[in-house]
Amino acid sequence: MKPKLGLIGLGNIGEPMCRQLIKGGYEVSVYDVGSEAVAQLEDTAAEPAASPKALASVADVVLLSLPNSAVVEEVVLGEDGLLESLSAGKVVIDTSSSKPSSTRTISERLAEAGIDMLDAPVSGGVIKAREGTLAVMVGGRREVFERCSPILRAFGGQIFFVGDHGAGHLAKALNNLLSATTLASAAEAVILAERAGLSPDLFVEVINASNGRSYSTEVKFPKYILDRSFDDGFATALMSKDLKIALEAAAEIDFPMLIGSTVAQVWQAAVAQGNGAKSHTQIYAFLEDVTGSRDAETKAP
Ligand code: NAD
Repeated sequence: MKPKLGLIGLGNIGEPMCRQLIKGGYEVSVYDVGSEAVAQLEDTAAEPAASPKALASVADVVLLSLPNSAVVEEVVLGEDGLLESLSAGKVVIDTSSSKPSSTRTISERLAEAGIDMLDAPVSGGVIKAREGTLAVMVGGRREVFERCSPILRAFGGQIFFVGDHGAGHLAKALNNLLSATTLASAAEAVILAERAGLSPDLFVEVINASNGRSYSTEVKFPKYILDRSFDDGFATALMSKDLKIALEAAAEIDFPMLIGSTVAQVWQAAVAQGNGAKSHTQIYAFLEDVTGSRDAETKAP
């Protein structure tokens, strides 16, 4: 028999993830602080719960898709949180991009009550979440990973077991460090190319036929940046958070983050300038502003 699932956090990733879990034949109870987020799933069999605690009383495995570790801690350990009603033998799977140090602490607290935890952050954005083909990088106990693999396969394409508690979250932060680096760096190159008289569309085509290409130039530029739609569904503040996690992980082991620290500052500046809630591909427009390259009349937003 399939375990009963709970899912907390029904945003850009949680909502399509929920649909994939239901499609995979799971019964899913859901909770989100935003009533609109819950309402999006009205056309499905998802069963709304009144609180994380209430959800935990009916679920065997609880998945989280939340903004950051502070929220994950509140939902798991706080008042009316999961720990108040999860019983021994149950499992919490954190698919959010969280801080490895926080994940280790939460997993220890849960283990004291006989509850297992996996960190299983995802990559691939809204597109792969809708397809059910997210990359999933998992930390925790291997036996728990193996037991929960069918659940992960409902929304995952390639699934990797990478190590103990927090290892998945570290892998995710470092992946996004690379993603943020290629996006910001390519933006700088394309903006400069345009300023110097090249066609940005043609220049991106050139990059994509050459060694400067990346997922950022192959997918994000054509889909979200060159047409200035910037509608990718991943917030700048979330990317900046991931970079902070990567820097913190480096600091923990006195690792000099020479390139990553500069990249992190670029994203932090974008947030400081009020762009946190905007899609992360708008880093392009931010860098146009910073470099005095934006023609306000023709290049809104
Ligand atoms: P989002 O902001 O769209 O969704 C987060 C949801 O959590 C919202 O619906 C919000 O109302 C809810 N929430 C906030 N506080 C809550 C609380 N205390 N209790 C219950 N619900 C609460 O974020 P997202 O883009 O879906 O990202 C979710 C996680 O996945 C983040 O950690 C993000 O970094 C990561 N992620 C996002 C993407 C992407 O492309 N959007 C890709 C990979 C990973």
